[in-house]
Amino acid sequence: MISVRQALEISLQQTTRLPNETIPLLESRGRILAEDVASDVDMPPFPRSTMDGYAIRSEDVRHTPARLQVVGTIPAGTYPNFSLRAMQAAKIMTGAPLPPGADAVQMVEKTRPLEEGAGVAILESVAAGHNVSPMGSETRRGDIVLPAGTFITPGVMGLLASVGKNLVSVFCAPSVGILSTGDELVDVTAQPALGQIRNSNSFTLYAQVQQAGGIPTLLGIANDTKESLHAGIDEGLQFDLFLATGGVSMGDLDLVEDVFAEFHLEVFFDKIAMKPGKPVVMARSPRGGLVLGLPGNPVSATTVFEVLVRPVMRKMMGFPVYQNQMVLATLTEPFANRSGRENYAAAVTWYEEKRFMVRPLKSKGSGDVVTYAKSNSYLICPLERTELSPTEEVVVMLRPDFFYG
Ligand code: AMP
Ligand code: MG
Repeated sequence: MISVRQALEISLQQTTRLPNETIPLLESRGRILAEDVASDVDMPPFPRSTMDGYAIRSEDVRHTPARLQVVGTIPAGTYPNFSLRAMQAAKIMTGAPLPPGADAVQMVEKTRPLEEGAGVAILESVAAGHNVSPMGSETRRGDIVLPAGTFITPGVMGLLASVGKNLVSVFCAPSVGILSTGDELVDVTAQPALGQIRNSNSFTLYAQVQQAGGIPTLLGIANDTKESLHAGIDEGLQFDLFLATGGVSMGDLDLVEDVFAEFHLEVFFDKIAMKPGKPVVMARSPRGGLVLGLPGNPVSATTVFEVLVRPVMRKMMGFPVYQNQMVLATLTEPFANRSGRENYAAAVTWYEEKRFMVRPLKSKGSGDVVTYAKSNSYLICPLERTELSPTEEVVVMLRPDFFYG
């Protein structure tokens, strides 16, 4: 049986980045830039006041109060048609350009209008450059402000807007087909009869694919017959990535691998030393798509998604980092690992008094969606460790859920 690390390595080796496409800026959040983006302007494009106040010449206000003649007003969005001479000031608004001759701004709170009319008293000296963003101090026209490979956050979108990129080139989002298999499964709208349960995996995986930036398509439920599986898998192989759940363990009706063989899939592994989630089939279709046969147990399926599938999707989308964020956290209670496998235990992680704390949840097993739904992370217990003690520093994998992401 291969280790989680080996499984991840093999999966990533088999994954290639998708081509790029050009999309509107407003739709680009969460994607990865496929082009270097240069600024088409100096930023700021002129020496800019960062305060409401008076543009002055710093040498005129060395001795305060300094009485200056006010020669104009400069609102944001205008450009002054005058320059400052000795002992002159201009009223200026935040975001407005300094007039030639001025080298600083004193904030309005540190000034007082003069009784005799068009004058101001500057009450405190300022050094040259005070309250001014010099022209080009943030970036120069032509400079690369965002290299290819940048993850598009709201802040990045603001920068793209600032440099006039209304259309951006990004790596394509993978199409992902999701098939649940099992005779016992019924739709969410059905009242399960004796022996039946509702299909929950499709919903969990749909949300995870969406959260990861992919385009999910639900392919419904296949029965545990070769015919039904054949039809479902045939559909699934049209996608960049095909996720099937159930039917990959050792039961008489676990036929998914047999049907994969009918499609001549190249299988890279079918078991991982991981708990939950031992039976996992990773394969490639001759049509080019990647295939992951996930365990049917809901906690196993969703956990394998976080450990293997999300990194694969991230690589397809051009992310520079594939794995979820790991942190060290202080364990709050003992944890036992008798599985002989690397254990990804659903846990709650939080930040308190300058450190992360982690509490593994008392799960009733890989089918326990009730407990799992309370988790935001995984406590990772290495395969060789049978016990972890409270106060021990342990490795935790944060899910995007940790960030309410
Ligand atoms: P399997 O891997 O097919 O042996 O399924 C393992 C366990 O997961 C069984 O208890 C199934 O009933 C359950 N299961 C399989 N598929 C789903 C699903 N789509 N939604 C909820 N539970 C499932
Ligand atoms: Mg089954």
